[in-house]
Amino acid sequence: MNRVILIKYGELTTKKGNRKIFINTLYSNILKKLKDLDVNISKDMSRMYIEYDSTNQEIILKKIGEIFGIHAFSIAYKTETNIDALKEMLNLVLKENLDLEKNYTFKVETKRSDKSFSPNSLECNYIFGEHILKNFPNLKVNVHDYQVLVNVEIRKDYSYIYLNEYTGLGGYPVGTLGHGLLMLSGGIDSPVAGYLAIKRGIKLNLVYFEAIPHTSLEARNKVIELAKKLAIYGGDMKLIVVPFTKLQEEIYKKVPGNYSITIMRRMMYRIMEKLTKRFKALAIINGESVGQVASQTLTSMNVINSVTNIPVIRPVACLDKLEIIEISKKIDTYDISILPYEDCCTIFVPKHPIINPNLNQCLEMEKELDYETLIAEILDNLLVINISSSMENIYEDIL
Ligand code: ATP
Ligand code: MG
Repeated sequence: MNRVILIKYGELTTKKGNRKIFINTLYSNILKKLKDLDVNISKDMSRMYIEYDSTNQEIILKKIGEIFGIHAFSIAYKTETNIDALKEMLNLVLKENLDLEKNYTFKVETKRSDKSFSPNSLECNYIFGEHILKNFPNLKVNVHDYQVLVNVEIRKDYSYIYLNEYTGLGGYPVGTLGHGLLMLSGGIDSPVAGYLAIKRGIKLNLVYFEAIPHTSLEARNKVIELAKKLAIYGGDMKLIVVPFTKLQEEIYKKVPGNYSITIMRRMMYRIMEKLTKRFKALAIINGESVGQVASQTLTSMNVINSVTNIPVIRPVACLDKLEIIEISKKIDTYDISILPYEDCCTIFVPKHPIINPNLNQCLEMEKELDYETLIAEILDNLLVINISSSMENIYEDIL
């Protein structure tokens, strides 16, 4: 087939020194994503080309639209690098992609990566423009206000022509920025936070704190479903289920109600820090949003965050709830997040959680808890679930 999918890299082009790593990571991410679809991928420093079986075109385009690190992609027609071959290919491209009964305005834009190729880009624009005018009477040139942009990319061995471009997801290829651990609850915010972290190239594993029997297996299944949605963008990942019941019960027995959430979140962060070491992560990521609840005031964040030196990334910290919801709908997590099953935080929420907690008071209260022993026990009893986007659907009948 003479068609290929042409991929333009995203923001990575600004990272000169790391370019090779970025391109190689993107290459292997695309390869993994399309592994069952019989493709052949080649790459150079500015483009990737995917040869594919035309019967898979739709599904391949959809999947490429789910990969970070791609600025734009298009279905391009490949031909030998000489003017006659290019003219001939132009005829085919226009015939296959335009309704030639209609009138169009167009512009030709030629790019030469092979600067030794003569004629130069400007001259090529004229040559191909003239060729189109001569062979397609319904097409008129308008370089300022055109309906069809005819892109011609001239390269050493082969050249490419394409009309339409799809916008890619942007961001960095997943894995180029190392590993992070996402605190994934069943809520709306944390899956969005995870998606945004993946966008910046962070490879995620996920941590879910559960408090069975106060929380149900349905709540865990809901988190698994959210994890599967993240795996569409982030690749296969581990979901680490933390048995939080005993520690949480201890907190609710011994800590005054207004401080219970503050102390509980300090415990979560302590556990997260241990998990970053075990799972070789460089950052903790969560769905906290400034001012959203009592534990997310700046004072609370200071007191809670002070138990760890690991960077805590809060991708939705400065988004409004409506903005977060908009992203959750786009990534298809919203309908899962609003399923009713309680998670461990909502179940023990006190009437009046403190919004300005005091660090010394926290330290005093924590002296009453044998939390180090309980945390060690928790770390010995983790449940790790391997997540992939193609796992069976738990909620198929509900959603
Ligand atoms: P919502 O999306 O409705 O705000 P939430 O899960 O974000 O729900 P918060 O109490 O705002 O609830 O929690 C703040 C962040 O803490 C979450 O976004 C998530 O990253 C983390 N978190 C809360 N509960 C859990 C949990 N049970 N397991 C893992 N992470 C959690
Ligand atoms: Mg929240």
